[in-house]
Amino acid sequence: MSNSLPTAINVAKFGGTSVANFAAMKNCAQIIADNPNTRVVVVSASAGVTNHLVKLANTPLTQQQIHQVVEDIRNIQLSILNDLGAPNDVAEKLNALILSMAELASHEELLHSDELKDSLLSFGERMSSLLFAEVLKQTVVKGENFDIRKVLKTDSTFGQAVPDLQSIKSHAETLMKPELVDSVLVTQGFVGADQQGKTTTLGRGGSDFTAALLAEALDAQSCEIWTDVVGVYTTDPRITDAARPLPELSFEEAAEMANFGAKVLHPATMEPALRKNIKVFVGSSREPEKGGTWIVRDCADEPPYRAITRRKQQVMVTVKTPKMMHAQGFLQQVFTIIAKHSLSVDLVTTSEIAVSFTLDNPANSVAEKLNRDTLDELREFCEVVVESDYDLVTVVGNNMHSAAGVSAKIFSSVDKYNLRMICYGANPHNMSFLVHQDDSSNIVKQLHRNLFEQV
Ligand code: ADP
Ligand code: ASP
Ligand code: MG
Repeated sequence: MSNSLPTAINVAKFGGTSVANFAAMKNCAQIIADNPNTRVVVVSASAGVTNHLVKLANTPLTQQQIHQVVEDIRNIQLSILNDLGAPNDVAEKLNALILSMAELASHEELLHSDELKDSLLSFGERMSSLLFAEVLKQTVVKGENFDIRKVLKTDSTFGQAVPDLQSIKSHAETLMKPELVDSVLVTQGFVGADQQGKTTTLGRGGSDFTAALLAEALDAQSCEIWTDVVGVYTTDPRITDAARPLPELSFEEAAEMANFGAKVLHPATMEPALRKNIKVFVGSSREPEKGGTWIVRDCADEPPYRAITRRKQQVMVTVKTPKMMHAQGFLQQVFTIIAKHSLSVDLVTTSEIAVSFTLDNPANSVAEKLNRDTLDELREFCEVVVESDYDLVTVVGNNMHSAAGVSAKIFSSVDKYNLRMICYGANPHNMSFLVHQDDSSNIVKQLHRNLFEQV
């Protein structure tokens, strides 16, 4: 590695499966060694660890059960430590982290404190980054573990913290940039700190967002998202074997895909990339030689439809008031409450006496979005019906509304299913359907056949 700052910095992020064990970490270290521009490495927690931590944070457990979950986490990390040859300094730091994690897991206020939950969730990335920095050192690259809480400043919305861009920029300039001259910083995705220094998290899957935020703050030229698939596909390859990787995508298309459920990218990942025109690469850390997807501002080709996404576990809320016909301001009242509770609404339909809207309600989210307070407030002035078991299927593309024949092709693919809501996006990049969860896989497969598998 040369002892100067490269003119084109690359930030590389490695997801949970990429840092699941020592062998997977070695692949990642090789990818870093192969690109001298990579100076910042963002890691997720080792696969499974965050789910274990969420379980500890959200479920009432006996001491015995808590102990068992902590042991499961410990075993994942110790196996990596052992494969590393258990160097003393790393072993000591890891044991100290595991001890603090175990203490927090038994804290009697844990289940009631979002602040404590975030502290607990941060341990996954703190442990994986400690171990990965050591793997990197043993490769050839001088890797240093860096505590991202010094830089990634956020507000105090525990569980879904909002980054403070200016503060991140200035801290990255002073605390990270000088270090990049002769080392690669290995840091934690997903984790941040509020103004008082309290640990926050960015929401599930947030490590992609961390990488993009750091790329923006450091004026990087590129940001790589290394995961378990060889790029962004026409649809989730777990839904159909016919899904195929896309060589190139526009920022807007990728942003829509991420927002509408393509788990390969956290929904906010494209925001910093768009602001600063940073190219984003998505590839597989197991098979880097297979290439991947480049997400760029100006794509050579912007077809009417590019991909199909699915977001599971959507909730439809219908609020009804017989007074709505006369009561101006009803909608405003409903949406004021939604805004107050920071709920993000996707689809909305209105009739004379009712308004229905959908909310994302993902599994394992730290903050249950549709909380009791919101419903209680709505019930004060209207009748509220909550229905679950829905998935949102979205076709993502370009100028879908005006391209001739596109709607017909899409609708003919779904006409035998019961669609609860249909929505042309407010922008020309998406068209969404709310469908029963039992139908969604078949709908995605059928759409994929009609849109992508016919010549
Ligand atoms: P990581 O742990 O590396 O962040 P994730 O599990 O969060 O990985 O994201 C990768 C997964 O995203 C893939 O295994 C795949 O099942 C899923 N996925 C959903 N939609 C897409 C898509 N359109 N293209 C590629 N992968 C997708
Ligand atoms: N470890 C966190 C999660 O599982 C963040 C991430 O992997 O991006 O949600
Ligand atoms: Mg992810």
